[in-house]
Amino acid sequence: MPTLAEIYSVSKKMKITVHTEKLGEFSQKHVGFYMKYASFVFRTLRRPSFQKFLCWMLRKENIEEPMIRDVHVRVFPFQRKNGNGLAGNCSTNEGKIQIFPKTLKFCQKLRQKFGKDKFILYVRSRARAALIHELLHLKYANDEEKVRELTKEYFAVFTQNRSTQNSHVSSIYNMIFKPEAIKNTIEYVD
Ligand SMILES: [Zn+2]
Repeated sequence: MPTLAEIYSVSKKMKITVHTEKLGEFSQKHVGFYMKYASFVFRTLRRPSFQKFLCWMLRKENIEEPMIRDVHVRVFPFQRKNGNGLAGNCSTNEGKIQIFPKTLKFCQKLRQKFGKDKFILYVRSRARAALIHELLHLKYANDEEKVRELTKEYFAVFTQNRSTQNSHVSSIYNMIFKPEAIKNTIEYVD
């Protein structure tokens, strides 16, 4: 079992980051939404149950704590040139991890389609999966296939260990790891 000091050591490297030059690109409604989203993700990722799980995973993978410099929960979404959103990013030599939100438009559609509870579970699960994924990049660098495979395994371990059985869990798993499943159900254009 990880010690309390170990759990605290990852948690304290987390911060919420707003790139203020981006503020002008968004309406007040968007800014309010993204701030709320970021603080929700931040609290989710810092929960002791998840931090404890991360310590266990890092130890199992021999990823040493000094390799992680900081984890930024970014307030605004990141759109790639191909139009697809990005869940996270890891710069392995700096040890800098970034976690990005989904767009407001996407969230509205998802919430409308699935309701609040499932939407919240999706946001939490996506952020957790993104952080697991980016931490694994610290060790496996550019081996994307390996990172993806392990992300699924570790995410499943965390989810199965939780005592509350939730009927949404398996559909959320598909939404995160088989994104085409969401596209088909909500016909969304991000
Ligand atoms: Zn990756």
